[in-house]
Amino acid sequence: MESDESDGTGKFCRVSREQDVLENFSKKEIIDLLKDDSQNDWLFSLANKVRKEYTGDEVHLRGLIEFSNFCRGTCKYCGVRAENKFARRYRIAPDDIIETAKTACEAGYKTIVLQSGEDMYFTRKIMSDTVAEIKKFDTAVTLSIGERSFEEYKSFRQSGADRYLIRIETTDRNLYKKMHPSMDFDNRIRCLKDLKTLGYETGTGCLVGLPEQTIESLAGDILFFKDINADMVGIGPFIAHPQTPLKDYPNGDFTLALKVMAITRILLKDINIPATTAMETLNPDGRLIALQCGANVIMPNVTDFNYSEKYDIYPNKAHLDDDILKSRAIIENRLKSIGRTVANDYGFRPKKTSR
Ligand code: SAH
Repeated sequence: MESDESDGTGKFCRVSREQDVLENFSKKEIIDLLKDDSQNDWLFSLANKVRKEYTGDEVHLRGLIEFSNFCRGTCKYCGVRAENKFARRYRIAPDDIIETAKTACEAGYKTIVLQSGEDMYFTRKIMSDTVAEIKKFDTAVTLSIGERSFEEYKSFRQSGADRYLIRIETTDRNLYKKMHPSMDFDNRIRCLKDLKTLGYETGTGCLVGLPEQTIESLAGDILFFKDINADMVGIGPFIAHPQTPLKDYPNGDFTLALKVMAITRILLKDINIPATTAMETLNPDGRLIALQCGANVIMPNVTDFNYSEKYDIYPNKAHLDDDILKSRAIIENRLKSIGRTVANDYGFRPKKTSR
């Protein structure tokens, strides 16, 4: 859309704008929407409508196991960065990871997400074997373990891994370099391409509110998600961690993160979008709000609490409950209150739009 249509009162002409928007959203429009809060109600309700139309009212639960907080990375914002000497490091043994996954599957989870720092103890073989064991429990498996080689990704995939999450974090190359001194933007892109090539459902996403991040670059992030045809996009506000170099910076803005998420839903339509834990950390109802502004996934933490409290990527990480069954019941009840149900299938991306 070249210019905003007016209904003569100076306000947007909602109906035609909505139609246009579903087909096309220019970078300038995204920037304007992100800068202008007067359109928020319209934006959120459109995102909710698109979510309902393309993914329905079912919410997919993904059981998250944070199995190691050892990390070779030095991401400036992250509490488990290698240089944080105060981090209490842990690593869950493969057999215990498998046991936790089994318990979660028995409780009804249809996806297990294995997340960790970049911990090279988990070699190609250990990781592949672990995935193969978990796949025996009739579940989809998602990995979120950072940057690996094509051969490693291939091996995990051959063992049955279905999905992979690796956020680009920011598409602003300069900011990326500042935030990730030990990493290379092009390698991150290479990872995403490899994962797509190997047939993973591929997830990415960004942080909202990093120091020096601009609205323009957030608009670029959204267009990047569209450009690579991401199957999943996770968006969360930056939360300052006291044991990182960014400890004195303000937290990201909840509403801005919600807007980035809503615009992503409107543009990518049928993808899976989690209501992120970071959103709930900034707002006690964060996840329920997000589910009404475009999200259709929740990732409850099913890690043994003794470990998960140490997976301290940012402070005061929202926790529902440490009991898998209890937390499922709580989630189901909370979802019911907003007219949503828990899905019983694996929750792959529906293939209604062209890929
Ligand atoms: N090592 C894996 C998983 C990282 S943890 C990887 O590299 O992909 C998952 C996500 O937590 C990160 O992608 C990052 O976006 C988010 N995260 C880390 N520190 C954070 C912070 N301080 N505030 C908000 N989100 C954070």
